[in-house]
Amino acid sequence: MGKDYDFDLIVIGAGSGGVRAARRAASYGARVAICEDSDVGGTCVNVGCVPKKLFMYGSMFSQTIADAAGYGWKLTPEAFRWRTLVANKDREINRLNSIYETLLEQAGAQLLRGRGVVKGPHQVAVGSETYEAKHILIATGSFPFQLSIPGQEHAITSNEIFHLQELPERMVIIGGGYIAVEFASIFHELGVETTLVHRGDKLLRGFDEDVRDFVQNELEKKGLQIRLKTNLTGIQKQAGAEPGAPTLHTSFDIGSELTVGLVLTAVGRIPKTEGLGLRSLGVKLGTRGGVEVDSHYRSSIPSIFAIGDVIDRVQLTPIALAEGSIVARNLFDSAQETLSYEHIPTAVFCQPNVATVGLTEAEAQTKHEQITVYRSSFRPMQYTLTENQERSLMKLIVDDTSDKVLGCHMVGPHAAEIIQGLAVALQCGATKAQFDATLGIHPTAAEEFVTMRTPVPRP
Ligand code: NDP
Repeated sequence: MGKDYDFDLIVIGAGSGGVRAARRAASYGARVAICEDSDVGGTCVNVGCVPKKLFMYGSMFSQTIADAAGYGWKLTPEAFRWRTLVANKDREINRLNSIYETLLEQAGAQLLRGRGVVKGPHQVAVGSETYEAKHILIATGSFPFQLSIPGQEHAITSNEIFHLQELPERMVIIGGGYIAVEFASIFHELGVETTLVHRGDKLLRGFDEDVRDFVQNELEKKGLQIRLKTNLTGIQKQAGAEPGAPTLHTSFDIGSELTVGLVLTAVGRIPKTEGLGLRSLGVKLGTRGGVEVDSHYRSSIPSIFAIGDVIDRVQLTPIALAEGSIVARNLFDSAQETLSYEHIPTAVFCQPNVATVGLTEAEAQTKHEQITVYRSSFRPMQYTLTENQERSLMKLIVDDTSDKVLGCHMVGPHAAEIIQGLAVALQCGATKAQFDATLGIHPTAAEEFVTMRTPVPRP
């Protein structure tokens, strides 16, 4: 006789990955509980993808209103009201929190309110109760990394930015990755004098070099201040300044200083494993605290699994969702699946939008003997009647031996929407000849991806 457990699966953390795993597992007939000590939906729903995208939509109107003049619209915009955007965003997030709870309930997964702590290979304590489970899934996500500099406590992170009471006149954003670039673009478009400060010599490490150069140039053309090869060394809060005046004095290693109303640090995210009881139980953790797992997301303790940001592989919602589904299927639907981390489409929601799938040119060069690159840069048709000088970039990377398209990259309006479709093509192993044989939709920017014929000359 097997041991009598309270549940077949207890999930710790009701973010995207945890909720997906819990619902899937319950759909296979497993008895599932999921514990959460904060709002259901995790980072993505509460302080990440969703509210960020709503802020991005909000920020796009300044350019749209300016562009409208060229199309004959005489608009005299009323002042932008930040508090209205925040309040409306909060209402939407509350709605999504309820939907997540309902989905769990409908799936038959029990939501345990409280912080889960692992007490044994099959035991999880939530508040004063301890539950026995056949399997435990850690899906606690990650939290913003903090710099250790004097005055760091005066800076905020992406956790707090969504609840900002007032827009500052001036702000500094530290970092050159997804969050820093997205918020720099959002706040710049909302009229905040924004300076993006990055330690590296280019933004968006990991993206194609042409994309990195292109997007930086476009952001600077719009008036965003970008300081590269610069590190923040300290933040001092000035006493006795006028109410509402910038009060944070920031200093940098290159000697310059800036006085601003807000400092946002966006310098990466760390797996959330502290206080979970994993270390004392002997669950193997990586150097940044992430749970080490095998290709089936099993930790060094066979009954304990982990998925999503907490395993410190790829910090993206669709990856956590896919990993959560796989754990549920493998445990409760007799599957033996693994996830391919190839062809992960991704986007940076700045303006212009950046999106990409597949290899960068540099990666393709190291992995393939001979490649051909197609590149096109143009002023989108929608701006032709306007003063807007923003340009778009599209780039295809093709393997000469197989003719397979290895990478698609875009900077420009709706890049994420366009690249999502091309991700299907790459997943199917599409060749350049098949791209060429595809009819365009005219007139669109996206048709450029099926009409690029002239390769970039090789050096
Ligand atoms: P990223 O890893 O994207 O970027 C971190 C940035 O901080 C890099 O530019 C890095 O520089 C810099 N940095 C790291 N440590 C320091 C330091 N000690 N001092 C100064 N700069 C430092 O992390 P984010 O915080 O922007 O976002 C976290 C993750 O969340 C992303 O990696 C992404 O996976 C996910 N995300 C996805 C989004 C999307 O899909 N649109 C949106 C937002 C987040 P360097 O390049 O030199 O290492």
